[in-house]
Parts: sequence; C-alpha cells; structure tokens
Amino acid sequence: MPDNLYAGFDLGGTQLKYGLINASGRIIFKGQAPSPPDINSLMNLIQKTWVELDRRYPRRIKSAGFGFAGFFSLKEKKIKQSPNYPALNNFPLFPALKKIIPVPFAVHNDANLAAYGEYLFGSGRNVHSLVFLTVGTGLGSGLILEGELWQGKAGFAGELGHITVNPEGLKCGCGNIGCLETEVSAPALVRNYRQFSGKDEPLEARDIYLRARAGDENAKKSFDRCGYFLGIALGIVINFLNPEKIVIGGGGMKSGQWLLGPTRAEARRRAIAPSFATCRIQKASLGNDAGLMGAAAWAWHQLQAGRTGR
Ligand SMILES: [Zn+2]
Repeated sequence: MPDNLYAGFDLGGTQLKYGLINASGRIIFKGQAPSPPDINSLMNLIQKTWVELDRRYPRRIKSAGFGFAGFFSLKEKKIKQSPNYPALNNFPLFPALKKIIPVPFAVHNDANLAAYGEYLFGSGRNVHSLVFLTVGTGLGSGLILEGELWQGKAGFAGELGHITVNPEGLKCGCGNIGCLETEVSAPALVRNYRQFSGKDEPLEARDIYLRARAGDENAKKSFDRCGYFLGIALGIVINFLNPEKIVIGGGGMKSGQWLLGPTRAEARRRAIAPSFATCRIQKASLGNDAGLMGAAAWAWHQLQAGRTGR
C-alpha cells in the first residue's frame, strides 16, 4: 500500500515553491517556478502544478496547503492585503482554489506556515514557544505558542514585519512608516549599501554579502544597520514573550553571521538580561523548504481536525 502524500504550495514575492511530503514529514517531490505577476496566471500555474503532481502520484495526494504572502483573514478566507504581492488583495481565493484543487485544502499566510514547518520539522522541533522570521524580499514572521500556531482573533497575528522600528523611516507597502520590513529585507540591504558607498550601481543582496566577505567596510556597515533594527525588534519580542527560541530563515540568512551577529548584539543590548539568557536565536534549518513543508502539514492537520476548505 503506497503512502498517502500531502501537497504544499508556498507563494513568495519571487517564487512559487511546491512539493509533497509523506506522513513522516519527508519531502517526496519538490519544484519551483517564478511567481506570475497577475492572479489569473498564478491560478493557471497552481492548476498546472497540481495536474503534474497528481499525474506523478495518482490518487495518493490527500490534501493541499497554500501559504500566500499577505494578511490572510480566517473569516473571509481571503488575503486582505499583500504588501509584496498586491494581485492577491481581496481576491476570492477559496472559490478559485475549489475549482482547480480536487482534494481538501487549507490556506494561511506564508510565513505562518513556514513557522509551522520549522516547528514540526526544523530548528523549532521540541520547542514550546517559537518565533520565526524570514528575511527576503520582505520580512515575514510567525509565532508558535504552547505548540500551536498563534493566529490571533482573525488570522493576522505574527506580523513582526509591520511593527514600527524607525518612526522617521520610509513608507512601507502596508501603508505604515518605518516598518521592520522597510529596514530589514533584501531591498533595504541594497539601499543601505548605496547610501554608504554613494554609488548607484546595479546590485543585489548577494553581491553585498560577497563584498562583506571580501572586506568591504560599506558592505559590513550595511549588514550592521539591518542587524541594528532587527535586534531592536527581537529585543521587544524577547521582553514581551520570553520565547524559548527565535529562528531566522529566508534568503537573507544565507549571509549567516553578517546579519545574525549584529542582530544578536543589539537584541542583547535591548532585552532584559534574564529573558535574553533563556532565549536561543539561531538560523532556520529547512531553508526554502520550510514554507512548502509547513503548508503541506498545515492542510493535513486541518483535514484531520475537520477544518479544510472542502
Ligand atoms: Zn508595513
């Protein structure tokens, strides 16, 4: 008797990642494609991907989970607002998914589901309270409290990316000024470097990492500035929640200590000492797979609890 499989889809600002896990949480298959800019192409891509998965593993896929970038309303079953993927704003997701996905499905914010993935299968295993952050195109986060994904009253909990860390800062995609996401993300790192170097060259976050490694002071200062603001946010989180672990993932963490070092130092300066001493801040362990694994497990667990969209 072949294993049952559970599908997970993770839509970020740049890539749609998808895959199948089995009941032991092992990835059986995975793939990715660039995120289409408009909603019709996105739904077509999801449908095409589903057909491909179902053809590979006929009748074995029992549920599908979807992590979307944006503020997901549990009540309305829509993304109310997506600062990094505006095509999703208020789009009637459930009716559209129902048409193309023939198995029970569940939806949530992408970072919440990545937090769930790290909690079940990654750096957050065996932890009771976990704060997860992902630094990439934007800054997503999710919160596990006493072993449960903390959703808040309507699903919008865990949005650390949109707390104010710089009251005089830049306008954020959410409409607020000086959100953590405006200071800690790939575009923020690039902006820092341009400011410090005074040059307006074409540049990606990865180039700044390579330059930091090669001894470029402006690159190092660019990471320090991101770490400063991230450390302020983590100081708040530590004082408020006294979490057992804070796990940071996403493309930004490929830079490792360049971001993590100044972040830890600032969090230590800001947080109350006994709380900081009991909280471990470390790198996520699932990399790009956290989102799709968490999405797959979320839908599967919602199915078991009788809470899926079908
Ligand atoms: Zn914001």
